Amino acid sequence: MIPIPPRTFRCADCGWSKTVERSSDVVTEGYNIFSSCPKCRSNNIISHKHLSFAAIIVDFLTQLKK
Ligand SMILES: [Zn+2]
Repeated sequence: MIPIPPRTFRCADCGWSKTVERSSDVVTEGYNIFSSCPKCRSNNIISHKHLSFAAIIVDFLTQLKK
């Protein structure tokens, strides 16, 4: 089983951010996933996976091909 890295959600509008550990497969809006900012209600949420540098490059290249 591949461990799921922590993920940081950040609001591009007000600067709110939260890092969540994905310890289970249960995804709960407002707890370990955020589609809108709990502070300013913006939908401008950016999420970052915590990956090694190499994995970030691979992820970046994969996204470029899409
Ligand atoms: Zn916000």
